[in-house]
Formats: sequence, structure tokens, C-alpha cells
Amino acid sequence: MSEGAVKKEERRKFQAIKGTRDLLPQETALWNRAEQTAHEVFATFGFGEIRVPIFEPTELFARAVGGETDIVSKEMYTFEDRDETSVSLRPEATASVCRAYIEHGMQQLPQPVKLYYMGPMFRRERPQKGRYRQFYQIGAEVLGGTDAPAIDAEVIEVVMTFFEKLELQGVQLSVNSIGCRECRPKYVELLRAELLKVKDSLGPDSQRRIDTNPLRVLDSKLESEQAIIAKLPRIGDHLCKECADHYAAVKRELDLRGVKYRENWRLVRGLDYYMRTTFEITAQGLGSQDAVCGGGRYDGLVELLGGPPTKGLGFAIGEDRLILSLQESGKAPVAQGRDVYIAWMGESARATAIRAAKTLRNAGFGVELPPVEQKFGKALGQADKLGAKYALILGDNEVTSGEWTLKTLVDGTQRKVTEQQLIADLKKL
Ligand code: AMP
Repeated sequence: MSEGAVKKEERRKFQAIKGTRDLLPQETALWNRAEQTAHEVFATFGFGEIRVPIFEPTELFARAVGGETDIVSKEMYTFEDRDETSVSLRPEATASVCRAYIEHGMQQLPQPVKLYYMGPMFRRERPQKGRYRQFYQIGAEVLGGTDAPAIDAEVIEVVMTFFEKLELQGVQLSVNSIGCRECRPKYVELLRAELLKVKDSLGPDSQRRIDTNPLRVLDSKLESEQAIIAKLPRIGDHLCKECADHYAAVKRELDLRGVKYRENWRLVRGLDYYMRTTFEITAQGLGSQDAVCGGGRYDGLVELLGGPPTKGLGFAIGEDRLILSLQESGKAPVAQGRDVYIAWMGESARATAIRAAKTLRNAGFGVELPPVEQKFGKALGQADKLGAKYALILGDNEVTSGEWTLKTLVDGTQRKVTEQQLIADLKKL
């Protein structure tokens, strides 16, 4: 390599890959609060945390998410492992949780098994506000047992309770039933027939979907298609008796829980094993990417992955969007400054300062102990910049007399404290 090339190499600045980002301490405070609240709320509903791997065999996602979906066909980060097996970064976690349910024989446990997870997911989507290539989900799955409507309602109640605790603003829950293996195929055929009649007025995407997946036409946001879609047959009018009863019961159970919802007949999922209840939650301040949570029932999935016939229901919350919405509505906590800055000068004060820092930290105070001696003026300036509440001043005088100086930085008042009283005095303040 020429000298010039070396220099250029050395100067290369690295940046986070497009669609990924660093979360800095000011932000992680809010992330941690959201995650802590999730742990607490989910535990009160009897959910236990599961941690599944970040990568899995590609085949698992191809089967569970669907080989023809955009997620699997275009958006997965897939690579060959050394033994030439194909592995992928997880685009979602439901497949992994179902795999784990089967792998650990969880059908032997009391049913249903209630699990929740949180962590990063990876999809190679076009990045924009609220849409990233590494993003985070907090989700839960209820596996096994019955498909009692109360379970659907309780799963929705968990999310709504979580959002309420966080004071998320503008929360809107939409629900729908997409029927089952009995009634949906008939509805899809009817929909296809109706769509064929208006094919020429539809855009190219929807025209294609008449063949591949007519339900997806209902997702269309194209202005020119809205009036046409409004006249299409609605799945609610074509549910079989079991599905209609189930849906009515889910709504009753939501009412009993005081959960407010809207019905949206256009809320659908394209995959075969999704059935009956589907729901979506939006929140304010998110622009076009305003869905913070999507969920639904997927009774066929565990079986599709080689397990026994198993009822299943779950949701995934987009944590990035949740945080964005909280920030936009001013619900973000202010970043915490240090409690105490220890301004010390002189060799004898050094040992005392280290001891004081230890005592304060053990009592739970956030302490900044400067590594090298500073003039008091400079130390106090530094304490201010760090947003410290107090400065503990330790110089030769303080160490000799045993009377330490505690300065309140907002108003500049000072008081004398002894080592024994320090913690008690600070707590009183
Ligand atoms: P899904 O797994 O596609 O049903 O998505 C569930 C939730 O995850 C969505 O409602 C979003 O809040 C969130 N989400 C999905 N994809 C992304 C992404 N690329 N970036 C940020 N959040 C996402």
C-alpha cells in the first residue's frame, strides 16, 4: 500500500449502517423505563420472559412468516454459515417463540403458556421516520389451551394497560375478525370476483394482488382506490357462525374490561394460519408509520412448525415508534445529572474523597469523582456542566477538622457536614 493509501485508510470515518442507529444515554433512559414497565405489567398478567436467539435457520422464517411475503423474500439478512446452512437475522420473534415452545415440550406445562420477549429485529426496509433496519419489538405470545374469547381480550388488555402506564397519547385500537379456514377462503373468492369486475380502475399493485393475495388490496392507501374498496364485500358479513360468535364474544370481553376499540373491516393479514381476531394500535406523533402494535390469533402456526395442534395468539409492539411517540408528546423523562460531584484537593483529601464516593454510591447516589486534582473553581464549573445537584468539597481544612463542606449548586448555599451525617443530611435535602 502506498503511503497515501495508508493515510486515507487511517482517516476513514465510520458511521452506523443505514437504517441502524445509536441510542445515547439521554434516550436510553426512556427506553429503560419503557422496558421496565413492560416487565412489570406483563408479570402482573402472568407472562414470563423468554429470550430467543437473534439468528435462526432461514427455513424457520420462510415457513412461519411465509416465503412469498416481502419480509422473507426481500427483507431478511441471510447468510451462509460455515457449515453451509442458511441462517437469517430474525425479522420477528413469533416463529422463534413457537419453535422454542415445541423444542422444550412446553405443551406439557399448564396451558396456556404465556411468554413475552423484547429485543432487536432486522428487516431490510427503506428507512424513514419510525422505520429502521434494526428495530426493536416488545411482544408476547399465548400458546396452548383454548381459544376462549377472553384470552384474545386479555392479550389486548395487556398492551393497553402497558400503554396506559406509559401515558402514551392518542392510542387507538382497531379490531377485526378475519375468519377461519372454513369461511375465509369463500370470502376471498368472492372478493376476488368483485375485484376482477373493477380491475381496470385499480392501480398496478392491487391488480397484481387480485391474483396473489386479494386481502392485501384492502391495505391499499392509494387515494384513487378508496371509493372502490369501500363498496367491496366485507368479511364481517361472511364469517361462519363459530367465527361470528367468537368475534362477538371478544368484543363483549373487551367491553367488560373497559377497553375501547374501533372496528376496522379492512384490517387483514395475508397469511393462511392467521385467523379470527386481528388488531392494530396506533398512537400520535408518528406520521405515516403510526402503527405501534400489531397482533392476532394464529392457531395453525405451531403445527406448521412441526408441533402438535396448538392455539396461538400474540402481538408485537414497535418499541422505536413507542419511544418516538412518547418523546413527541413530551412524556420523556429528563436525563438524570449526577447527584454529587466531589471536588477534592490535596493528597490527604484524595483518600477521603474515594471513601466518601464509596459510601455515597452504596447509598444509591450518583457520584462523580474526578480522577485528578482540580482547582476548586474549575471543579465547581465542571459540576455545573454535568448537572450535579451538590458539590462535596474536600480540602486540607475539611480533612483535618472532619467538617466537610456540602454546596447546593442551584442556589450556592453551603453547609458543614460530618462524615457520619453525610448520607442522612443528603437524604433530608
Ligand atoms: P409486524 O411484526 O410487521 O406485525 O410489526 C409489528 C410492529 O413492529 C409494527 O406495528 C411496528 O410498530 C413495528 N415495526 C415493524 N417494522 C418496523 C421497522 N422496520 N421499524 C420500526 N418498527 C417496525
